Amino acid sequence: MSEINHSPDATAPAKAAGASRNTAAATSPNPLLEDWTASGGVPPFDRIDAEHFTEAYAHALAEHAAEIAAIARDPAPATFANTIVAMELSGHALERVGNAFHLLAGAHSNDTLLEIERDIAPQVARHWNKIQTDAALFRRIDSLLREAASLGLDAEQRRVLERYHTDFRRAGAGLDAAAKRRLTEIIERLAALGTAFSQNVLADEQSFLLPLGGEADLAGLPDFTREALRSEARERGIDGYAVTLSRSTVEPFLQFSDRRDLREKVFRGFVMRGDNGGPTDNKSIIAEMVRLRAERAQLLRYADFAHYRLDDAMAKTPGEVRALLDAVWTPARKSALADRDAMQALVQEEGGNFKLEPWDWRYYVEKLRQRVCNFDEAAIKPYLSLDRMIEAAFYTAQRLFGLQFAPAPNVPVWHPDVRAWRVSDAEGREIGLFFGDYFARSSKRSGAWMTALRDQQELAGHTPLIINVCNFAKAPGGEPTLLSFEDARTLFHEFGHALHGLLSSVIYPTISGTNVATDFVELPSQLYEHWLQQPEVLRRFARHYQTGAPMPEELLQRLVAARNFNKGFATVEYIASATADLDLHSLPRAKDDDRALDPSAFEAQSLECMGMPDEIVMRHRLPHFAHIFAGGGYAAGYYSYMWSEVLDADTFSAFEETGDIFDPATAKRLRQSIYSAGGLQEPADAYKAFRGRLPTADALLRKRGFAARDTAAD
Ligand SMILES: [Zn+2]
Repeated sequence: MSEINHSPDATAPAKAAGASRNTAAATSPNPLLEDWTASGGVPPFDRIDAEHFTEAYAHALAEHAAEIAAIARDPAPATFANTIVAMELSGHALERVGNAFHLLAGAHSNDTLLEIERDIAPQVARHWNKIQTDAALFRRIDSLLREAASLGLDAEQRRVLERYHTDFRRAGAGLDAAAKRRLTEIIERLAALGTAFSQNVLADEQSFLLPLGGEADLAGLPDFTREALRSEARERGIDGYAVTLSRSTVEPFLQFSDRRDLREKVFRGFVMRGDNGGPTDNKSIIAEMVRLRAERAQLLRYADFAHYRLDDAMAKTPGEVRALLDAVWTPARKSALADRDAMQALVQEEGGNFKLEPWDWRYYVEKLRQRVCNFDEAAIKPYLSLDRMIEAAFYTAQRLFGLQFAPAPNVPVWHPDVRAWRVSDAEGREIGLFFGDYFARSSKRSGAWMTALRDQQELAGHTPLIINVCNFAKAPGGEPTLLSFEDARTLFHEFGHALHGLLSSVIYPTISGTNVATDFVELPSQLYEHWLQQPEVLRRFARHYQTGAPMPEELLQRLVAARNFNKGFATVEYIASATADLDLHSLPRAKDDDRALDPSAFEAQSLECMGMPDEIVMRHRLPHFAHIFAGGGYAAGYYSYMWSEVLDADTFSAFEETGDIFDPATAKRLRQSIYSAGGLQEPADAYKAFRGRLPTADALLRKRGFAARDTAAD
């Protein structure tokens, strides 16, 4: 499950950007304080040292604080221009420094950057909290909102004003001084804890290495997996083969390795990240974060953190979310248990005298897939080279939105493996830059995500600089990197987010691109995955990496037909994580703060309540659940992927109903209402503008192969 970047704290605005008034810094030797106009807004990565960030942050934070103070203390009565526009134009240096820092801290880190991150995260949280709880500033925003009808604002300005008011209110701007002080302490502490959480996971990932000795250790592994493991070993400075804890290494190993003992070792390493005791254990961090979030919600007069969080989401209430998760859980669990029974029979048939365990699931499901669907993952992979799949993603964007992608080899990048493209529209106008950082390395955290060096906005005339970061195992010796179908799906997913950033066409940065509700932000990404699964796209781009021959038609048909195979498992492992997240953040603030939460016991209890099958583990166990603890991005919000899937399934149906998966009229509406509109409208209104109505869960149940009638029968 891939992510999109969010600011380290949920209440901080996702972005602050504006025209640079940073003239004095142009002579500074610190490259982070230059304005980067010569390189189109891209930082001069080759001249940036980690140490530069400390000075640059100090400068940028002070500059932004001064800009905000001038707005708050302006003796003139509040106007949209002197308050909202002025804030939208402030903090340009902070945006540049912060974006460059977050990119490097996630995608190409080192000890110095990690140390600075620990130091800077609470400072940045304090900075935003101070702004958003500033009484004078809030008075100005509040007076503007009350007079909004008479200000002559257009729809976008009105929306931006409302967003400011909501963000400030939710940050606690309306609270008394004592409550604000406590909120400040909480927010700073949460920022520090979130950083520690993600650094602990990274440390556990970096410290795990399973070298594979001889042929016996490699039993069952296809060539492409062996090559990936050799590349992992080389990256860690050892000869031979090795398994690390990146998902794109772990999953194929579990899928193919005949060595049950080694599968168990790798599986345990993967699911125990952040849960190993000692200095990198995350359990006490989780307990403290949950307690602080509950207290914060209480200060803001919400029943619990989930209610606080969802009030500003499309779902609105935890009840709405649970209704959706419950509707899908029952048929998904039933389907997973049927697969489990079939696999257990397979174990017996092979003479295995053991109960299927979680480290056996991927291995036996692969065997089952070969038997039931006559479909072999290893046979597919040679047709899914990374370069072809990038071409396929670009082609789809060209068919839908008229976009063109031209390699930009001279744009500065942060690692030699990173590639850049200039993106232009149908009229040949350059609309932005796209960066692809595709390969796993030890300096990169696990997962896949989209982020930006700069958001689109017309106010300061910024074109978007958008990045996709993935963790595909790189083929050694310059050989083409081959993807699994899941990897290819991740590539399309993140590229869908990238398009949401690249196609953004708004005036104000606050509502630019992906700055939308978390349960709406996965619509553009998950929707994009649909095109990868279309025969029309696969026929053109799924070509053998050596011969260039297209995938044989009957293999292609089997691939498409196997789309929903093992979907029960994928759904169960996901809903388990989404439910545990919601359960955890529905805890009211404990009356006795010393009674610490035990995350292990809580996780076990939450799983037992839902009837989690023993053979399946949550997609993200709490001790390494970065979505909800490494910052607040998806806290009480992991359900968002499924919420958005209701929308994406129904959206793709709109194309299918026309008989053309690239139908120009539908694509045009999609671009106008969703991909280019950022946060211009409430998500439900944006969706209705595209489809004329809101969707139900039926399209999702059909898409996952759990037809609605199956649910009714349960
Ligand atoms: Zn995503």
